[in-house]
Amino acid sequence: MVKVVVPSTKEYRFPNICPRCLRPADTSVGITHTKHYVVVRRVERIDVPCCTDHKKEYQFFGVVSAVLWIVILLWSIFSLPIEISFFFVIALVIALPFLLKEIKKRIGVSFKTVGNRTEFTFWNPEYAELFKAANTMEVA
Ligand SMILES: [Zn+2]
Repeated sequence: MVKVVVPSTKEYRFPNICPRCLRPADTSVGITHTKHYVVVRRVERIDVPCCTDHKKEYQFFGVVSAVLWIVILLWSIFSLPIEISFFFVIALVIALPFLLKEIKKRIGVSFKTVGNRTEFTFWNPEYAELFKAANTMEVA
């Protein structure tokens, strides 16, 4: 994994290739980062060009995690029979953070903002170099 820190902006210049496989990008996917404040949370979103295959894979994992959250929610609302579901739900709660991390890996890019800078993490070093070159050019 390679970290690239750039000043926060509305427009990041992503190479027009998939961050996972470096094939030409023919679609894009929104990656998010959730910031937690004292009482509110804000979801930041950046669109990243990628290939159709990896977008599908990314969305599939997103659906899986959404379904798991719904299961947990229903369980806590309707209190399903404890003896059947207690360990199942505990297993889900433990598994979910790992799953969410896995989702981020699916597309090969994650980010977080620190102050007025944005820290990107790329799984592909080659892609990271291209991104860095496109986003850290000095303005003449
Ligand atoms: Zn791809």
